[in-house]
Amino acid sequence: MWPNFSHIYIEEGAEKYPLTDVILSKFSNTFCVTVHHYKDIFNRPQQNFQSQKRSMKLILAVKKDNLVYDGSEFSQSMGHDNFYYNSMILNCVYNCDYCYLQGMYGSANIVIFVNIGDFFSAVVEKLQKPMYLAISYDTDLLAFENVIPLCAQWIEFTRAQPNLTIEIRTKSANFKSIKSLEPCDRTILAWTMSPDEVVEKYEKGTPPLRRRLEAAKEAIDEGWKVRVCFDPVIRIDHWKEYYSQCVQTVFEKLEAVKLYDVSSGVFRMNADYLRKIRKQRQDSDVLYYPYVFDKNAASYPETIKNEMNLFIQNLLLQYLPSTKVFI
Ligand code: SF4
Repeated sequence: MWPNFSHIYIEEGAEKYPLTDVILSKFSNTFCVTVHHYKDIFNRPQQNFQSQKRSMKLILAVKKDNLVYDGSEFSQSMGHDNFYYNSMILNCVYNCDYCYLQGMYGSANIVIFVNIGDFFSAVVEKLQKPMYLAISYDTDLLAFENVIPLCAQWIEFTRAQPNLTIEIRTKSANFKSIKSLEPCDRTILAWTMSPDEVVEKYEKGTPPLRRRLEAAKEAIDEGWKVRVCFDPVIRIDHWKEYYSQCVQTVFEKLEAVKLYDVSSGVFRMNADYLRKIRKQRQDSDVLYYPYVFDKNAASYPETIKNEMNLFIQNLLLQYLPSTKVFI
């Protein structure tokens, strides 16, 4: 599944971090190039996201600012007041048609920030009160774990910080990469579950529902807190049938009482990102639904959104109490 990177660009200064050695040891035959600043490569003008996606390069860099962000309006805080996220990796090994990263970045190359200690320090500064931190943001961190064990390091860090809870959201089936760790009760492993019709059509490169479920089941059996996310819900033809079947399959495989909670949300995206993606590609109908552009966001018209949310909510309430369902 891992791309065979032809080049690894290394920002000046990044070479001295242990994570750089870990990554380079996995790609010993790859051509390495030193660059002054990662943005010299990543932010070059006139790049085409989807053509680059077919031949991604790896960029190792040091992040100097914005090591923790306030929670975004497009993400779910799951009832937490003190909600933050961070981005140690920019871009993803997967290539979902509806992914906002295509509009957020000009480049599909993968940037890994190797100064994890600075990310930890930035979190510690905010830990006077309980903090909820989404660490698999702008990427799928668990999918990278075989190359760079960031989830493991974050889990161990979290274990030592009583005020910190982290969420690791994933579509991967890669639980085995962290299976040897002791479960941490302030780490939530959150699997996005989608009907296979959606996976095949729109979630390119991701494991099918069956494999995600096997991974989630294994995590639950090992004692981890597991969240299931139906997000984004996409209004494909026969969507009611597909999502009904998907929800049923999930709860046949996973015992509802053992789930930490379940969340769901319909497709939504920053409006400027969607406009930008539409200029770049015309090959996916999910990008061309007649969404409503409302201030910053593009999503389904209100009545359709409400219908979809209510439908999924009613499906979930057959298995879970309302206190465990976040729409
Ligand atoms: S898994 Fe998430 S981050 Fe990765 S391509 Fe899909 S939507 Fe984007």
